[in-house]
Amino acid sequence: MLKDKAAVITGSTSGIGLGIARAFAREGAHVMLNGLGDAAEIEKTRAAIEADFGVKALFSPANLLHAEEVTRLVTDAEAAFGTVDILVNNAGIQHVAPIDEFPDDKWEAIIRLNLMAAFYGIKAALPGMKKKGWGRIINTASAHALVASPFKSAYVAAKHGIAGLTKTVALEVARENITCNAVCPGYVWTPLVEAQIPDTMKARNMTMEQVKQDVLLAAQPTKEFVTIEQVAAFAAFLCSDAAANITGAILPIDGGWTAA
Ligand code: NAD
Repeated sequence: MLKDKAAVITGSTSGIGLGIARAFAREGAHVMLNGLGDAAEIEKTRAAIEADFGVKALFSPANLLHAEEVTRLVTDAEAAFGTVDILVNNAGIQHVAPIDEFPDDKWEAIIRLNLMAAFYGIKAALPGMKKKGWGRIINTASAHALVASPFKSAYVAAKHGIAGLTKTVALEVARENITCNAVCPGYVWTPLVEAQIPDTMKARNMTMEQVKQDVLLAAQPTKEFVTIEQVAAFAAFLCSDAAANITGAILPIDGGWTAA
């Protein structure tokens, strides 16, 4: 389905981004991985994609807190692959704290990475997509693009912001065979979710099991975590021809969370 397409997936050294990169590679796309982490582990991850799917997999260590590194990630991928057909703005971080105690630097980092990096990435990738007359932009938003939870002010603000950015980009390129959508997962068991459990335990004075059941899965009527594979398959579908008329959509994959 994606044979000879090239995709940049930000934050793809773990979790949802890695799942999306592997799903795209399975469909035949060359992929540019990006993210932080242990160099040897990342190299294993990259090499496994090439071995498993017979596509080119590259890695960029760009730190997307910095605008110029976001731009460079896209231009490096264009130089390596000759094109960037698909951009997934997925890198994200979280911090959990009451707003009156929320550290300024954490707030700014979350807005930079979860929102502004998507703007810089889209800005860099669109000219090539327009020239080619085909493109797919997917922003990993969250159920928190549609509803809020206490103690996550920066994250909720960034994710609501990316919903607005998604719609605006979709309108601007609607006639150019380029779609822009936001996928909005509920809770997916990844390092990002695992890492916020201690702070949530502290903020809410709860045990780990209480946080899992009464905070995380409490929101999700199915009472199940969404899987990485389900989000990845959804993203791959959005790159298919069948999805050509899905654009500007803020799409929940959240076990019914935002229906409530
Ligand atoms: P994760 O922690 O497994 O992955 C985050 C990725 O971002 C990693 O590859 C990490 O290295 C990368 N990253 C972090 N800081 C970076 C930086 N400065 N520059 C470049 N890369 C950086 O988390 P995840 O759960 O897979 O999250 C991926 C996306 O999905 C995020 O945008 C997150 O908000 C969103 N999301 C996650 C859930 C969930 O329940 N896990 C739910 C809804 C939305």
